[in-house]
Amino acid sequence: MIFLDVDGVICNWTLGFADLAKIPESKRPIGGNLEFRWAEDTVKPRSIWSYKLDQFFWSELPAYPYAAALVQTVEKFDKNFRFLTASPNESAFHSGRAQWIKREFGTKYLDKLIICCKDKSFCARNNVLIDDKQRNIDSFCNNGGYGYLWKEVNGLKWTHASVDRWLFQLKELEEYLGAFDPKYLRKY
Ligand SMILES: [Mg+2]
Repeated sequence: MIFLDVDGVICNWTLGFADLAKIPESKRPIGGNLEFRWAEDTVKPRSIWSYKLDQFFWSELPAYPYAAALVQTVEKFDKNFRFLTASPNESAFHSGRAQWIKREFGTKYLDKLIICCKDKSFCARNNVLIDDKQRNIDSFCNNGGYGYLWKEVNGLKWTHASVDRWLFQLKELEEYLGAFDPKYLRKY
């Protein structure tokens, strides 16, 4: 089975948070793992979690423009794939994220949403994870699974480079998934 991470892969959390925190254009960092760079540089002394991330915040986050294409690619290889998203342990997140999935992909995709704790490796064995955090990929692979690192596309400033990057990654992901025996990915 394929597990697809949400934030940083199909959901542009970075842009949603930049707007919420009213970070001026000039201070919005380019590239890298923005969540942590903000925690270190821009947002201090207020940490990310001192902002009120309510249900509305989670449900109204923008999707990346390629999100539907990415989901289609994953579905091509595994119709029973699941969204796997780690919870910050707030009820606002649970309902907001469900609303987000419903809006972006339709009600029938709600069944695909799995909200888990920080460590995603519980479902690693013989499965594939697509995630933007190297540590999640490492943990999945160390626990009997496979992983594709989706490098977060800079969602703050669209450039030709970001479009090229996501087109390249979509193609690379398709090749990666195509290398598995189809029965392996569709065994459930
Ligand atoms: Mg993520």
